[in-house]
Amino acid sequence: MEKTHMSEKILVLVRLRPPNQKEIASNEPTEDWECLNDTTILYRRNTFRQSSNFPSAYSFDRVYGGECSTRQVYENGTKDIALSVVKGINCTIFAYGQTSSGKTYTMSAITEFAHEERAFSVKFSAIEIYNEAIRDLLSSDGTSLRLRDDPEKGTVVEKATEETLRDWNHLKDLLSVCEAQRKIGETSLNERSSRSHQIIRLTVESSAREFLDKENSTTLMASVNFIDLAGSERASQAMSAGARLKEGCHINRSLLTLGTVIRKLSKGRQGHINFRDSKLTRILQPCLGGNSRTAIICTLSPARSHVELTRNTLLFACCAK
Ligand code: ADP
Ligand code: MG
Repeated sequence: MEKTHMSEKILVLVRLRPPNQKEIASNEPTEDWECLNDTTILYRRNTFRQSSNFPSAYSFDRVYGGECSTRQVYENGTKDIALSVVKGINCTIFAYGQTSSGKTYTMSAITEFAHEERAFSVKFSAIEIYNEAIRDLLSSDGTSLRLRDDPEKGTVVEKATEETLRDWNHLKDLLSVCEAQRKIGETSLNERSSRSHQIIRLTVESSAREFLDKENSTTLMASVNFIDLAGSERASQAMSAGARLKEGCHINRSLLTLGTVIRKLSKGRQGHINFRDSKLTRILQPCLGGNSRTAIICTLSPARSHVELTRNTLLFACCAK
């Protein structure tokens, strides 16, 4: 029998991207961070060494340097969790990090997942949460979707489009539709995608006979969520502005609430967790609580000018483990 994952820890992975063209062209220093081995990332500059709250070595379940491909991150990082969906276990893979650190790039791991899951019946849906409004990324009508509490399924997004995946090319087409939809309304480069969360959900139906119980022929149904979060600089800004932020400030409620939820989950999924405080955590409640599995990939920029945000991301990652 499959054991319950009630006490399972959140898998915390860290991915350092290689320097980009702009950083190379402007001679921005990008060698300050180094992956020492499979689990430890090191800050090599000694500027902050005096300060005890800026340690120089950080350890996680796994760290990936600039030379690692998304396929590698999937294969020895998130694959095990993502595949638990075919055993009827809900799972969620987050990408957390500042804008330009590689969240969207890393979430393309969904294509690696879909390569192997063609044998099952898979439904695809995609939504975006922007300013606490939910939009269907598979529809162009732009109306906000509502949340409804279903006695059996928990919180459901009403009227979200669901497509049954035909094959891998179909998935790629749907991902392009989402990408195009996400760009609509973007006022400047990365403006909207830095403030919005994208949730891609694959709902997988499989047979219990194959995985759990040879006698039982019922169908198992579970979801795997691939979540490209808003840029973590939003949370840092909100925090540094203090607790009494006025409405209208660009505080990202879903990102802040997620931080709180993750910290509580990392302590063993016990006690009261305020999933209802934001749209993101409401939608994810059935996939985060109880018998579920969670991975967070924290993405880092190597640029010296981003050191404070990189450090904040690592501190978030430390809280999650
Ligand atoms: P984010 O979604 O966090 O804002 P992106 O995923 O859009 O960041 O990445 C910013 C840029 O860096 C993109 O051009 C992307 O292709 C590139 N990039 C990100 N991570 C990597 C990586 N690990 N290897 C190579 N290029 C990367
Ligand atoms: Mg992005």
